[in-house]
Amino acid sequence: MKFTCAHRWAFTAWGGKLEATEDALQPVQGHEVTLRVTHCGICHSDLHIQEGGFDMGGGKLSSLERAGTRLPVTMGHEIVGEVVELGPEVSGVTLGQLVVVYPWLGCGACPVCLRGDEHLCVKAARNLGIQLPGGYADLTRVPHERYLVPVGSLDPARAATFACAGITALGAIRKLPVMVADDWVAVIGCGGVGMTAVALLSATSAARIVAIDPDPSKREAALRHGATAAYDPNAADALKTINKACGSNIAGALDFVGAESSSALAVGLVRRVGQVVIVGLFGGEFRMALPLFALRSLSITGSYVAGLNELRELVALAQRVQLPEIPLDLRPLDTVNQALDDLANGRVVGRIVLQP
Ligand SMILES: [Zn+2]
Ligand SMILES: [Zn+2]
Repeated sequence: MKFTCAHRWAFTAWGGKLEATEDALQPVQGHEVTLRVTHCGICHSDLHIQEGGFDMGGGKLSSLERAGTRLPVTMGHEIVGEVVELGPEVSGVTLGQLVVVYPWLGCGACPVCLRGDEHLCVKAARNLGIQLPGGYADLTRVPHERYLVPVGSLDPARAATFACAGITALGAIRKLPVMVADDWVAVIGCGGVGMTAVALLSATSAARIVAIDPDPSKREAALRHGATAAYDPNAADALKTINKACGSNIAGALDFVGAESSSALAVGLVRRVGQVVIVGLFGGEFRMALPLFALRSLSITGSYVAGLNELRELVALAQRVQLPEIPLDLRPLDTVNQALDDLANGRVVGRIVLQP
């Protein structure tokens, strides 16, 4: 069977709503694979992609358009689909297989890509759901079979969230120092990625977890998924209260918000020789008194998604051990605009996964 037309939900103006479109698909070539999308997670960064950029602080905005992204854009980078068409050079993949797609493609040829870190490519990013059409569609085309990881016995809706939320959480956790049982880790922001980090930490780390989120339903969910304690960052004296509860022994803080207030809280929470990992893309500027770097011997690092190997490892880990499962909210693809609106207004606990 030939697949000549994809039905996509795309926006044609920055900040505009998504509309149903029909796009011709060229015949499949070389190593390309066509997937019938069965599940696609909605990520918070879709809101920034739709807006056209990120808040860089001081009133400055980054621009996807200046960086070469062209309209229309079909978002969706947490894709699971059934393999329905194979290019003539594809090997190791069979028709009918259910796969999760690694979407963070680079040029494939620069030293960083060749090292396996395509998500950090120094040349031209070709991410599915940003520069290339993503999974808010019935069909999607993947440039090479190596980006496909078989879902196996996993719930496909859950596996879809691994492509961004899952590996972003895993990549950030791997930047933490080795933890012992008396140590605490602070997880700031318990949306889809933060909640995934709570679940992964509770399954793989000796440390105790303190979850920090203003939304009581997210704090409750974090406690159910492995956090020992949970606090509201907006409560009076939050910093003092949390530090006291954790014996002033927070060895690492993962900031899944990436706002000025959340990064300041992360720096305030960690003990000496603590590690702050900034992951969220809310936006703004980071400020800290320079002497604190030395006096507190802090390490502050960023973390952006993770590599193809991390996706393979996460899928393997989930098959081997029962990970605490973050809540999933399955919805039809044609309700994507409502779903994005719910996400923008904080009305989502866990992850929305769309089904075409
Ligand atoms: Zn994402
Ligand atoms: Zn590259």
